[in-house]
Amino acid sequence: MSKQQPPVDGYCEQCGFDYDTGDLQGTVTTLIRQAADCSMSLTRAAAGPDPDVVRLRPEPDVWSAIEYGCHVRDVLEVQRQRIAQCLAEDRPVYAPMDRTGRVKELKYEDQDPMEVAAALMRFAREFGAAARVLTPPQLGKLGLYNYPVRAPRTLGWVIRHTAHEIQHHRHDITTILAAVEPPIVPKAPAEPTEEVSVDQPS
Ligand SMILES: [Zn+2]
Repeated sequence: MSKQQPPVDGYCEQCGFDYDTGDLQGTVTTLIRQAADCSMSLTRAAAGPDPDVVRLRPEPDVWSAIEYGCHVRDVLEVQRQRIAQCLAEDRPVYAPMDRTGRVKELKYEDQDPMEVAAALMRFAREFGAAARVLTPPQLGKLGLYNYPVRAPRTLGWVIRHTAHEIQHHRHDITTILAAVEPPIVPKAPAEPTEEVSVDQPS
């Protein structure tokens, strides 16, 4: 992708997330609000005049709203599992989530936007519940994280990074839907027939 990789520390110019501000409870509240916004954007677009607008990619290499929605849902589930793994293991090493492989494997583009929106909210609440109860020593516990580079990260960073992922992709979803709505007119067939065209009944 030509788009610049979002930062994993400090301030993100693209979505306004700041890793250095906000306590745990505030970060979790932000995460749940941003997840609710993702969920509502999907639901609203899918309930509009052209429900398939959620499946349109604004550029061939930029995901559609449904693909980002599925990604956000899966991030929330994987990150909640990582919290559990970090608490359970001495030296946690997180398995990569394979963000690009999942798009095809789980057929993101064919998924039902209403179901994705509902699952996304459920996972956001479950992630929030798992994160809110962490104690300062637990938040300081390290695990080996592999994005964007393999590095030890505290559980506190994992929480903030998850909140950033959701806020960043909420920004992506909003931008994409703004780019593809109102529904684009289908392109004319590549090889027009010789026949005289007749007006189609609307
Ligand atoms: Zn961002």
